[in-house]
Amino acid sequence: MSLLKVENATLKFGGVVAVNDLSFSVNEGEVYAIVGPNGAGKSTVFNLISRFYQPYAGRFSFDGQDLLNCKPDEVADLGIARTFQNIELFDHATVLQNLLVGRHRHRRTTLIEELFFAPRVRQEERHHRAAVEEVIDFLDLQPYRDKMIAGLPYGVRKVVELGRALASGPRLLLLDEPASGLSVEETQDMRWWIDDIRKQMGITVLMVEHDMGLVSGVSDRVLALADGAKLAEGTPAEVQSDPAVIEAYLGA
Ligand code: ADP
Ligand code: MG
Repeated sequence: MSLLKVENATLKFGGVVAVNDLSFSVNEGEVYAIVGPNGAGKSTVFNLISRFYQPYAGRFSFDGQDLLNCKPDEVADLGIARTFQNIELFDHATVLQNLLVGRHRHRRTTLIEELFFAPRVRQEERHHRAAVEEVIDFLDLQPYRDKMIAGLPYGVRKVVELGRALASGPRLLLLDEPASGLSVEETQDMRWWIDDIRKQMGITVLMVEHDMGLVSGVSDRVLALADGAKLAEGTPAEVQSDPAVIEAYLGA
């Protein structure tokens, strides 16, 4: 069953065709990876799915719903969460506060209720806290829970960025280069987390990643992208041994 479907997507920036008639779909429950050289259009694909960019052409659907009818916050409401290639957190807030922001889409209380601190608000607040504490436990972030983001090492901020997306309780998680800048050990941890996110939490993952060790370790299927178009698609082993992929990497 495909959860996300991208059909004939095209986006141009001036003379540059960043995404060129690209089609692929991600099945419910799988980890699907997009690989490709810098500038291949990987992040642009994420920006199209999350509706930050308006496509020139193409269809995008999630669980049968047309994403082109949605604004970015409505995409999040449908259950699509993302991380950014360049970490986007509130530097002068704590880990806990950043993760609570990740819960934003679930807030159903009104301003009047919040002003009068109605029982419903307190009950909701407890529920959000519990969901966030679960993510903190899951990602071993307890030691950093009340620390300011600005003072944390890069590797920890990268995990908090993942946590912020997870805290929203998504059905589909878009990870843009989850291992970039991480040490070998941190990359190994990231690998276990992605595995657990899929297996224990049942969340479907679409990720962009350069580290082929990580890609082979966690992905069911891989799409190789070059100049915004599909070069190859298949299992990690199939894609890595594809002559067109080898040519694109070595010939670059
Ligand atoms: P990747 O993530 O695969 O490295 P990107 O999707 O970031 O590649 O970029 C694909 C191409 O589109 C590049 O040529 C890049 O310069 C261009 N591009 C991406 N975003 C913009 C933008 N907002 N304005 C102009 N050009 C852009
Ligand atoms: Mg990118």
